[in-house]
Amino acid sequence: MKDEVIIIGAGVSGLSSAALLVKDKIPVRIFEKSPKVGGRTTSTSYKGHILDNGFHIMPFYKTSAVYKVLEEIGIVSDLKLSIVDDITFFQEKKFHKYPKGILDFFRLSIVPMKSRLRLLRILLPMAFSSMEKAEELDSKSLTKITKTMDKKTRSFFDAVCMLAFADTPDHVSLGEFVRTIIRANPFKGGTSEFGYPSEGGYDKISKMLEEYVKNNGGVVSLSTPIKKIVIQNNHVTGVVLESGEFFPSNCVIVSNPAYIAVKKFFDDEVFDKKFLSKVEKLNKTTSVIEVHFCLSKKIDFRQIVFPVGSNYTAKGVFFITNIAPSVSPKGEHLLMAGTPVPSEYTDNPQKIREVVDKMKVDISQIYPDFKENLLWERPMAWKLVEAVVKEPGLVWKQKMPHHIEGIKGLFFVGDSTISYGIGTDSAAHSSMLCHPKIINHLKEKSEQEIQIKQN
Ligand SMILES: Cc1cc2nc3c(=O)[nH]c(=O)nc-3n(C[C@H](O)[C@H](O)[C@H](O)COP(=O)(O)OP(=O)(O)OC[C@H]3O[C@@H](n4cnc5c(N)ncnc54)[C@H](O)[C@@H]3O)c2cc1C
Repeated sequence: MKDEVIIIGAGVSGLSSAALLVKDKIPVRIFEKSPKVGGRTTSTSYKGHILDNGFHIMPFYKTSAVYKVLEEIGIVSDLKLSIVDDITFFQEKKFHKYPKGILDFFRLSIVPMKSRLRLLRILLPMAFSSMEKAEELDSKSLTKITKTMDKKTRSFFDAVCMLAFADTPDHVSLGEFVRTIIRANPFKGGTSEFGYPSEGGYDKISKMLEEYVKNNGGVVSLSTPIKKIVIQNNHVTGVVLESGEFFPSNCVIVSNPAYIAVKKFFDDEVFDKKFLSKVEKLNKTTSVIEVHFCLSKKIDFRQIVFPVGSNYTAKGVFFITNIAPSVSPKGEHLLMAGTPVPSEYTDNPQKIREVVDKMKVDISQIYPDFKENLLWERPMAWKLVEAVVKEPGLVWKQKMPHHIEGIKGLFFVGDSTISYGIGTDSAAHSSMLCHPKIINHLKEKSEQEIQIKQN
């Protein structure tokens, strides 16, 4: 069918685009190479537990773009969210509360008293700044402001960057950091809280979107990889499946990371070299090792603990059952420890083992009864946490555009394309931003077809 929009990928961005289109009564067909929806947010079950693909929580809770998409299509009430706001630092044998609001900064025990005021003087103007002002800082590094701070104050930024970007401050653009602080400011309609599906499994969001798309006439074809996108005379004409079958369409949306897609799906001459080398700059990955630990005993009541300081390999300990008890069978408790690693570690089982063992030592130091209650562990390693690290010069409007000048009917969404926000929030934001452009293209196309018929 020629007027069916084809979407490649059933992750958060592909499904968000599909849902927004079917809401506007536009027929869509999604091709997803894997047997499940969710993309990087896919969950699995293991020994009766629901395990996410690494630690996944919804940044900015009910102000997240993911939430906005669900609101827009009228199904948000089906998503029961647990709030994630009990976050703590662990430093020098003590727990220190993570600040939720301005008043908390005065009690921010992780930072020495005299530095708290200095920190506030830096963070307050950021929190009340504007998105436009933040854009001016997109090419500067966060370390530009943190490098002169004392070690303890810097550890505050380490933890925020780990929580928000799964990365270290030297990889984070100041502009991106400022946008995050603005969006966390309740006086500007934001929140520093996170959300997580109460029933367990972050892929609940993708499953809800899939169901909505199908209930509204869309088709979701799983285990159906796309091999090629066909462009003729600067117009999209359809896609070729791995099986060789051709599906015609004058509108194709690509949702897997753009810098991979431009190399993988197109004939060589489609994009010029300058464009390709610009997109290649987005080929930066944040790599992490995360390990699920199952315990026979609850060792903490908190939701997230950040061990801070260079002596800890584990940069975050996430108590998943304290966020959503239904992820585990009764009497068992899941936690996950994670740390950023050089990307070559993720293919090296020996390195993964070493990192996991170090994290176990760290957790045992904080919780002496950890090891004796450990039932099983399941390490995972990723090269691709977010398609674009939040590096200076590679954020917000410097990302891959949704549409390429000169090629009609080809659109790109996903966290590597123009959008701000964190992870899934940015993936959904890209779909919201791209949607009107797709609608305009489809309108133009149908007007042209009416004219051709009339002539
Ligand atoms: C370990 C880890 C932890 C993370 N933690 C968080 C978090 O706490 N909070 C947060 O918001 N975000 C987090 N993220 C980031 C978040 O997962 C991503 O930003 C988001 O899922 C990206 O969605 P997307 O739709 O842009 O891309 P993807 O989810 O990558 O979707 C692209 C889809 O395209 C499909 N595809 C690829 N090639 C083909 C082909 N040839 N044919 C058909 N289909 C194809 C893929 O299978 C995939 O389903 C984390 C990521 C990881 C890996």
